[in-house]
Amino acid sequence: MKIEAADIFALHLPLLQRYNHHGVTRSYTDNIIVRLRSNGLEGYGEGVPRSYVTGESVRSAFRIIRSALIASLGGRSFRSFGEVKTHLSKLVTTPLCQNNLSAYCAFELALLDLSCKYWDCSLESAFRTEWHQPPPYSGVVPLLPPDRFEVFLNLLKKNDMKKIKLKVGVQIDFGLFERAFAVLGADVDLRVDANGSWTEKEALAHIAQMEKYGIKAVEQPVAKENLEGLKAVSAHSNIPIVADESVCSLNDAERVLAMRACHVFNVRISKCGGFLGSLAIMGLARKGGLRCQIGCQVGETGILSAAGRHLAGWFDDILYLEGSFGTWALREDIVDEDIRFGRGGRAPPMIGNGLGVTVRQERLRKYAKISETVTL
Ligand SMILES: [Mg+2]
Repeated sequence: MKIEAADIFALHLPLLQRYNHHGVTRSYTDNIIVRLRSNGLEGYGEGVPRSYVTGESVRSAFRIIRSALIASLGGRSFRSFGEVKTHLSKLVTTPLCQNNLSAYCAFELALLDLSCKYWDCSLESAFRTEWHQPPPYSGVVPLLPPDRFEVFLNLLKKNDMKKIKLKVGVQIDFGLFERAFAVLGADVDLRVDANGSWTEKEALAHIAQMEKYGIKAVEQPVAKENLEGLKAVSAHSNIPIVADESVCSLNDAERVLAMRACHVFNVRISKCGGFLGSLAIMGLARKGGLRCQIGCQVGETGILSAAGRHLAGWFDDILYLEGSFGTWALREDIVDEDIRFGRGGRAPPMIGNGLGVTVRQERLRKYAKISETVTL
């Protein structure tokens, strides 16, 4: 398989509604799409660069993909899927890729998607694994004013969602938990994500209160860089602590694990460096006795959601699963398939070779702020 051409698109996609979490308000999402072409076939990948997560920008991701990742394909011809995987395995561990995780992710997914189409195989067979039904998707409630919070809870109830994550800010209105249990039922599995908004002291005080409400997990209580704080909170909390922003690269995961600074890793494919980066982190977690949640990017398209769906089915011990929001988060998705989960957060496996989504060309054109084609 020789890659003949590559296209990079920086998409600016409108979200259905304004989305708030600690320190961030957005009504648009900026995503990078990579398309690789060979033999009349196309493979697609996506990355969502966020400065406050992986330290990347759309501009930096675009540049790295063009100048380093696509350039790595020049003059190469792959004889098997194994050779593709070897190429990616070497790339993903380089400092360049570990410092540009979402850029690498967009490139990797495109190359894997194309390779599966080229060699006529599913991602599962290419990775020598099988897909099992993962836990149901969670509903995620952004920071909302009380009236909209109530509306959101009722939508979740209508869809029979039993695993819910609430975004919380510096101050917590504990009445929200009472409202959530009242609407969703006492058996709902409720957890929170603070997106790093608390100090260690605030975190311990909030968590002590949350224990009374039966909150099941607390994600990123303290700032991304505050690993000592994360460790102290984890040591004193009776509620499992999930590290999200603190764990992007494999190095981050190794450091956090060595410190025993959390109980759960939130693995997100774009944040953690594609399938290979995520699999490495999940392998580390398993060896270290930590659980994993598979998360998503707000505003990801069906491409990343499909990748998350595949990955979630390769493990039988995923604690929580998020993503596949499709047009519940985006005004329009760029894929043909309706990626959204169904009742109770259940969703079927992706079918077909590769990721299993069909990208609509006119939507790429419609939402591309910048695009570039590289002929190899
Ligand atoms: Mg999070």
